[in-house]
Amino acid sequence: MSSVHPKQEQTFVLVKPDGVKRGLVGEIIRRIEQRGLKVIALQMFQATKEQIDGHYPKAETWIARLGQKTLKTYEKYGYDAIRELGTADEIEIGKMVRQWLLEGMTSGPVVKMVVQGIHAVDMIRKLAGNTMPSLAEMGTIRGDFSVDSPAAANKDKRSVRNIVHASETPEEAAHEIGYWFSPEEIHSYTRAEEDIMF
Ligand code: ADP
Repeated sequence: MSSVHPKQEQTFVLVKPDGVKRGLVGEIIRRIEQRGLKVIALQMFQATKEQIDGHYPKAETWIARLGQKTLKTYEKYGYDAIRELGTADEIEIGKMVRQWLLEGMTSGPVVKMVVQGIHAVDMIRKLAGNTMPSLAEMGTIRGDFSVDSPAAANKDKRSVRNIVHASETPEEAAHEIGYWFSPEEIHSYTRAEEDIMF
């Protein structure tokens, strides 16, 4: 059980190179701020492959999950994994996807931020929408601005372009915030509407 007040919850958000190159940084921050969530740290930078490698989990379960997402989409749309990727093994595919993810995330500058507010982790995941653009609801960042799919991406040997990364759990958020920011880069201030909205 967390003893943190819900309004102090923090999460990590990163605008991926595809989001930056499409000029969506302002739109993404606008949606976050409009909801009543507070940006408390912000920076554009060029990530290295080593940095991204340390950011994404290396656990076999997480890698298998990446592979499963590809296999599920291939099955749905009638693609043959062995013909396209040379294997139907979820771990093998997951490893390939993870490698493509390192390439995609270092293909241009990214914008990292820490966002604070009531249930920040869940609120931001909801704003971001489902990982896969075809499943992301309209009104979400991914639902409104992305059209990619593992079927298309993996055929072209790359990861799915879905504009943003956002932590999935408060534990993951704490780890990612600590990984990407030092404490003095994270700021504390009061937003004008805090007295009125909560
Ligand atoms: P999320 O970013 O929504 O937390 P994941 O942690 O499962 O999703 O995956 C990390 C990122 O890897 C996704 O945002 C997406 O860009 C990419 N990705 C995930 N699964 C696949 C896949 N099967 N094929 C290609 N890219 C994928």
